Amino acid sequence: MDCIFCKIIAGEIPSTKVYEDERVLAFRDIAPMAPTHILVIPKEHIPSFAYINEENAPLVAHILAVAAKIAREEGLEEGGYRIVSNCGDDAGQTVKHLHFHILGGRKLTLEMA
Ligand code: 5GP
Ligand code: ZN
Repeated sequence: MDCIFCKIIAGEIPSTKVYEDERVLAFRDIAPMAPTHILVIPKEHIPSFAYINEENAPLVAHILAVAAKIAREEGLEEGGYRIVSNCGDDAGQTVKHLHFHILGGRKLTLEMA
């Protein structure tokens, strides 16, 4: 599988892990766009937000619950934060493996970050 995030899950590419369980991995973005910039991904390869359906929705709900927990633990709750999932070319999705960005630690603009 020629997918950077699947390689990170497999441990073939190193990452700074923030959270891991049997279904989900969270790690720090290699090119942070905010003081806190974490990616939360399913271990199962789902190409993008467009592939979310009733079958995998429980997994996506778990990812979002994990994202909220990480934001709390990173101390972002008071100041606020943003959850972003870029889907497709117009949104600038560069890695075709579903991921949710957690962005915080500064005042965010209405651009992606
Ligand atoms: P997208 O642009 O698809 O919404 O987000 C992909 C994100 O993955 C980008 O913010 C990019 O910096 C990050 N990224 C790409 N390759 C790697 C990598 O090898 N390691 C880590 N930690 N982040 C990566
Ligand atoms: Zn993948």
